[in-house]
Amino acid sequence: AANSLHYTFNNNFQPQQHQIQNQQQRRYSTTIMKPINTALPDKGARRTSQSGNRNPGKTLPQGRNSLESSTSDSGINVPPFNHPHCDRQAMYQQPVRKVKPLRGNYDYDLVVIGGGSGGLSCAKEAVAHGARVACLDFVKPTPIGTKWGVGGTCVNVGCIPKKLMHQASLLGEAVHEAAAYGWNVDDKIKPDWNKLVSSVQNHIKSVNWVTRVDLRDKKVEYINGLGSFVDPHTLSAKLKSGDRTITAQTFVIAVGGRPRYPNIPGAVEYGITSDDLFSLDREPGKTLVVGAGYIGLECAGFLKGLGYEPTVMVRSIVLRGFDQQMANLVAASMEERGIPFLRKTVPLSVEKQSDGRLLVKYENTETGEIDSDVFDTVLWAIGRKGLVEDLNLHNAGVLTHKDKIQVDCEETTNVPHIYAVGDIIYGKPELTPVAVLAGRLLARRLYADSDLRMDYADVATTVFTPLEYACVGLSEEDAVKTYGAEEIEVFHGYYKPTEFFIPQKSVRYCYVKAVAQRSGEQRVYGLHYLGPVAGEVIQGFAAALKSGLTIPTLMNTVGIHPTTAEEFTRLSITKRSGLDPTPASCCS
Ligand code: FAD
Repeated sequence: AANSLHYTFNNNFQPQQHQIQNQQQRRYSTTIMKPINTALPDKGARRTSQSGNRNPGKTLPQGRNSLESSTSDSGINVPPFNHPHCDRQAMYQQPVRKVKPLRGNYDYDLVVIGGGSGGLSCAKEAVAHGARVACLDFVKPTPIGTKWGVGGTCVNVGCIPKKLMHQASLLGEAVHEAAAYGWNVDDKIKPDWNKLVSSVQNHIKSVNWVTRVDLRDKKVEYINGLGSFVDPHTLSAKLKSGDRTITAQTFVIAVGGRPRYPNIPGAVEYGITSDDLFSLDREPGKTLVVGAGYIGLECAGFLKGLGYEPTVMVRSIVLRGFDQQMANLVAASMEERGIPFLRKTVPLSVEKQSDGRLLVKYENTETGEIDSDVFDTVLWAIGRKGLVEDLNLHNAGVLTHKDKIQVDCEETTNVPHIYAVGDIIYGKPELTPVAVLAGRLLARRLYADSDLRMDYADVATTVFTPLEYACVGLSEEDAVKTYGAEEIEVFHGYYKPTEFFIPQKSVRYCYVKAVAQRSGEQRVYGLHYLGPVAGEVIQGFAAALKSGLTIPTLMNTVGIHPTTAEEFTRLSITKRSGLDPTPASCCS
């Protein structure tokens, strides 16, 4: 039956070619669309017994599977990771490897390790093209015992609960603004943390349920077990009921990451992370948020909006990796709302006092001054680590880089039948839509004869702080590094959202900028927006930027008035001119 089936994408078309012609100019050829009507090859595969360790092989000693360490004493044949660096140029210049997965004598064609954003999309797409797929997912509880269901970080302890709590905090602000707009509102409104947590958790549980039903309907075998390699084609799954051995032709590693804890006394015993916050069974109260990456700032932002007292502790810079002018504006806008930032400061210890509150000692790294304060909650947001440890990757010969896995332009590890997608891969944006698309495209290349590879450049993103920040493309500093300061023109402007006037909200940090090529066609390299509904604003511009947006096109685009997105079409002042970028009026 599989032979006679014809597998098609939704619209019967797939982009066949998407070439970059000139990386400097970053111009694309038009996508040629061709109908596809691809019959899958005869499966002809037999299932092995569940115990089949066909190729036990020898193993690399622990700790010998890092790219940084020697691999020469390996017991098994460990192919080196010698693929060229996968940038956009490499991606479009190298032909796609046409490696058809062989349907061998394995339990499954594909086993995906990790049932999060990347793993699920890959597994579902692979079965849609006829592959026999199992997907393992297992969540180790946090030190305080928080655990969750299938779906990975985004659904359970990431994007979704974060966005819901951000929304809860914005609504509190909106209720206060409503009074200025003429609503009779009780000014004693206050949030109910337990109710919020239970609403958020109910939503998450419904998503967990839908995910499991979807996997069953789509015939992906979901295995609730912790996977670790026994040999390059064999996995051991630790289940509640005992261990199970699974063999597969191909593996996709999509295990994501978990928050780090600092190595200081009391950190693990008394601190929590974002993995615990969204289901915390008590009000967070006065909270020390350690770390000023996007997760730390977002948590501090919604905690403040919900009426708690967050303080942000910053070791070095805010929002590392983002445009630093914008990052500092985000921090300043939070400080303006009453969120203190302890800069150049690191925590030293956390102690529980007799009243149950937490005494935190910390040090200013510039002055060496040691200080302390008492908090109800300490939230570590100091970064995330890839979950490579449990995988026993040395048994499969897969090399790691730090706690991540390095892959080539086709998400292949150094072992040709083992791939990786999502947060676990080294040096790529750690975002849900990135993991989802990479997983889907990989499955199409493996099982649907597709040529399309994931383009990791120009991925738009948003920081959901009280005043949101969204961007796509290069930061100003990266543009200067890449092209030189003389070749870059930065258009910028402050603006006043119409809806801010009546409630007299601060417009001080509402700001947009476009980083562009100075001469020639004036290609836009990066767009940055600080203001309301930032994600909604930047998403469309991301498509424009990927399609080769130029400054003249932006300026000749008619805005939608009165919106904040139209501010991009009104940009006319360059930083180089030194002119005042503050607006005179709203409508001219
Ligand atoms: P995950 O979703 O983490 O899934 C991996 C799964 O594999 C997990 O369930 C894990 O428990 C499981 N697993 C691990 N090891 C094994 C093993 N050995 N065997 C079996 N299973 C295993 N991204 C956005 O795009 N927008 C946002 O607004 C956003 N907000 C975020 C907010 C927070 C607080 C956090 C923490 C993240 C946020 N992210 C956001 C990032 C996003 O959640 C991740 O990029 C995304 O979930 C990565 O997907 P993944 O498939 O790589 O891994």
